Amino acid sequence: MAVRLAIMLMAAPTGLCSETPDFAARREQMVRDQLEGRGIENPRVLDAMRKVPRHRFVPAALADRAYRDGPLPIGYGQTISQPFIVASMTALADPQPRDRILEVGTGSGYQAAVLGELAARVYTIEIVPELAARSRKLLAELGYENVDVITGDGWKGLAGEAPFDAIVVTAAPAEIPPPLLDQLAVGAKLVIPVGDRNQMLRVVERTREGLEERGVYPVRFVPLVREPENAR
Ligand code: SAH
Repeated sequence: MAVRLAIMLMAAPTGLCSETPDFAARREQMVRDQLEGRGIENPRVLDAMRKVPRHRFVPAALADRAYRDGPLPIGYGQTISQPFIVASMTALADPQPRDRILEVGTGSGYQAAVLGELAARVYTIEIVPELAARSRKLLAELGYENVDVITGDGWKGLAGEAPFDAIVVTAAPAEIPPPLLDQLAVGAKLVIPVGDRNQMLRVVERTREGLEERGVYPVRFVPLVREPENAR
């Protein structure tokens, strides 16, 4: 008993171990059952998913459900994506250690943190100022110094920092925003849900010859909205 107590105290410097669920164990199980079990193989992506504390990116009242197999509400009518979707989109974007990545739709900041584990620099754009501020603060608190949260309309991308080695969009436009295609480096991929009611996750790769596009699987994301001055 004494030995076990000592180990528990060492493992929980906050002293809250008796009340804190074992999130690391849940994360491990999430990776095994929801990701490896469904064909996500990229070891770097799996490692990042093992590392990022998803429970910190959901409202405190929902922390207990953070590692379940589904999306969760994060306020302002928005959601944090299902773990499988985050891992799958990350694997499709395939960020490399020296890459500069753009994300559109910061939301909770979770996908940005996963990208931040894998790439040199992540720029993530969020249109709801309160969500941008909250995620900026949380990402800084968790030490993601390589992730920049920008408040604004991601439809137009981030021309000043382009081209990007990958672009991940986590809100669905009716059609692919042309500025995002323009901001892809040669060899880079855009991973984006497209459509109104029936959305399809699409991957567009810029090759030396031009753009190659393919549909991956049906998805359901919140719509990509436009700033009033940009809305058509
Ligand atoms: N990647 C997020 C989940 C995204 S939810 C996560 O890991 O939690 C989609 C987000 O896109 C919402 O926060 C929504 O406010 C934002 N969004 C919608 N339209 C946008 C736009 N035009 N530019 C930037 N963000 C947008």
